[in-house]
Amino acid sequence: MKPHIAVVGSINMDLVFQTPRMPLPGETLMGHRFHLVHGGKGANQAVAAARMGAAVSMIACVGDDANGHSCLQALQADAIDTARVRVVPDCATGVAGILLDDAGQNSIVLATGANASLVESDIDAARSTITQAKLLLCQLETPLSTVLHAIQSAKQVSVAAQETGQEPVKVVLNPAPAQKLDAQVLRQVDYLVVNETEASLLSDVSVTDLPSAQAAATVLQQLGASVVIVTLGAMGIWVADADQAYSLPAFQVKVVDTTAAGDTFVGSFAVAIAEGMDLRAACMFAQSAAALAVTQLGAQTSIPHRGAVERQLQ
Ligand code: ATP
Repeated sequence: MKPHIAVVGSINMDLVFQTPRMPLPGETLMGHRFHLVHGGKGANQAVAAARMGAAVSMIACVGDDANGHSCLQALQADAIDTARVRVVPDCATGVAGILLDDAGQNSIVLATGANASLVESDIDAARSTITQAKLLLCQLETPLSTVLHAIQSAKQVSVAAQETGQEPVKVVLNPAPAQKLDAQVLRQVDYLVVNETEASLLSDVSVTDLPSAQAAATVLQQLGASVVIVTLGAMGIWVADADQAYSLPAFQVKVVDTTAAGDTFVGSFAVAIAEGMDLRAACMFAQSAAALAVTQLGAQTSIPHRGAVERQLQ
């Protein structure tokens, strides 16, 4: 049985410019090439989860424009249920302008568009989708109040579940782009997955390496998070749960484009957890998927399928 995952998040069209280096302020730079690719943290993580074998439902908004229709078709091509994606009239679909330099680093400007229209009533309309899922997966490219409402909806099931024997809905939050969160929010999240920037902002510890990741994870747990995973690019991850904390190395691969490494990690991790893998195995599964993603160009184009992820793990 495929685990069912509900994703509340963003859908964007990515405009990717390949450039020899990042332009300076005021400079016009000749780039190498241009690509139009489907992206958005919510959509990327949904695609990663679908390619890892989950049944995925997307709860989101797009504009009534060519980008929006193209993004929806792309999700449907990965067998993602888009019945709960609202098409907002007179509104542009979210767009990300991505500069990708020869060193494989990226800089991104995001115009949020229809993603800002995702409101609490969209969550209420999708309530049964969330309550019947094994896992709810959220990021912060949609309004925080909407994300919190989704998390609370999932957690209300968890309270009721204790009485009826129904399995609680697990909640994975990837608080990206980084913004401060109350302890009250952190307490409701089962798995908090943060990169260096997010970990630094949420914990007030400057995260640059494994020791600082450990210190940040400790602060986040003191604030109420139960399981914290800090992703550190090619340095791998720091993992902290109630009983233990440890690092796991990244897979060594040739870097082409790091776009969507984090999203591939989070979407794949969610599937592994929803399937009941233990935390360490789920983290290595997710790292295998993310490492494969950095060997390919683009966001959704670079997300691997499960077979390749499992072969790399053998
Ligand atoms: P992005 O915003 O570029 O999608 P991120 O900053 O959210 O990424 P990272 O910490 O860079 O996330 O990467 C997530 C995971 O992807 C890492 O923990 C690691 O497992 C894998 N990864 C990223 N970069 C590399 C790399 N160069 N080599 C191998 N694995 C990598």
